[in-house]
Amino acid sequence: MTIIYLDYNSTNPVAAEVVDVMVHYLREDFGNAGSRTHQFGQNAKNAVLHSRQTLASLLGVKTEELIFTSGATESNNLATLGLEEFGALSGKTHIVSTSIEHKSILEPLEYLSKRNFDIELVGPQPDGRIDAQELLARVRPDTLLVSVMGVNNETGAVQPINQIAEGLRNSEAYLHVDASQAFIKEKQTYANKRIDFITVSAHKIGGPKGIGALATRRRKYSRPPLQPRQFGGGQEWGIRPGTLPVPLIAGFAKAAELSNQNLEKKLLRARALNNELVKELTELGALFNNDPLNSVPTTVNFSIPNLDSEAALMALRSVAAASNGSACTSQSYEPSHVLTAAGLPNLQIGGAVRISWGLETESLPISEMIEALARFRN
Ligand code: PMP
Repeated sequence: MTIIYLDYNSTNPVAAEVVDVMVHYLREDFGNAGSRTHQFGQNAKNAVLHSRQTLASLLGVKTEELIFTSGATESNNLATLGLEEFGALSGKTHIVSTSIEHKSILEPLEYLSKRNFDIELVGPQPDGRIDAQELLARVRPDTLLVSVMGVNNETGAVQPINQIAEGLRNSEAYLHVDASQAFIKEKQTYANKRIDFITVSAHKIGGPKGIGALATRRRKYSRPPLQPRQFGGGQEWGIRPGTLPVPLIAGFAKAAELSNQNLEKKLLRARALNNELVKELTELGALFNNDPLNSVPTTVNFSIPNLDSEAALMALRSVAAASNGSACTSQSYEPSHVLTAAGLPNLQIGGAVRISWGLETESLPISEMIEALARFRN
């Protein structure tokens, strides 16, 4: 029996059309987008320009506001650490974020806290969602940055970014959204023009690993005061220099374009699959670690009483490749910081299983998964 891959929040398979585009820019148009003296360079430059237009338009920003990076980790580091100098010089050293962010936000913030920045992390409600008013109440005149993810990677919980953006209308604080898990799937979490910075990553939408972007919206005509984290050939307006990886960039744009095609239909299909999975799991006695109706339709996080996540994943192993969704360093598993922050009981956290699929997924092996779990539990 083939094992179905259901760990899309970790990474996605790459569509054949995306691979084809990438192969073209590896084999044929392999030039350096910075080479001005020949057609090879021009073709590569055109590919970057076209990809930038596609991605900028999907993000609702101008082409010159999009900075390519190596992925969401780098974008998140740039959006936080890149503001350090401005913060220190202007006396704005207060940052508001949440305790359910990805480590690529939490760790840079921890670093800044050791450099005299005052970091406040707001916890989620039991359904995994942040209360916008509670977060906004922490914002002060010296708040430099508010950073909130659009969709949580473990629970799929959709965060109230629109409300947060509206609540910041009269504040000068920069607003950053880590839209790694939201891009294409949950546009309302990054569409608001009050958002200054948006992080995206290609491999969460069917593109290659190692490429992402940070959209950095201008206020009136001035660029945000982001300082580069590396120095070199001046690419990406000097904010992120380095030879542009044209095959990765072209693959990223192609993946975004494909994901966005027939989006409404694909979201409805994902929701129908979600409803069916939740119904069957409920009958099996599962407890849910997210509120499926306030989460992206492609993620379900559940626990089966008396079945720890290792055992549940073992049970599922011959049917589906799922995940426990918790932070996993190379050596050890730690209990999920996201579910812990939501205040869930330890046993429930220890049993968490995340099933995540993609916009292109047409069906889920629901009865096989339920049978496998029921067999193991008995
Ligand atoms: N933020 C979130 C919300 C994520 O889910 C991930 C990937 N798990 C990242 C950031 C890091 O992304 P990348 O692998 O592109 O560095």
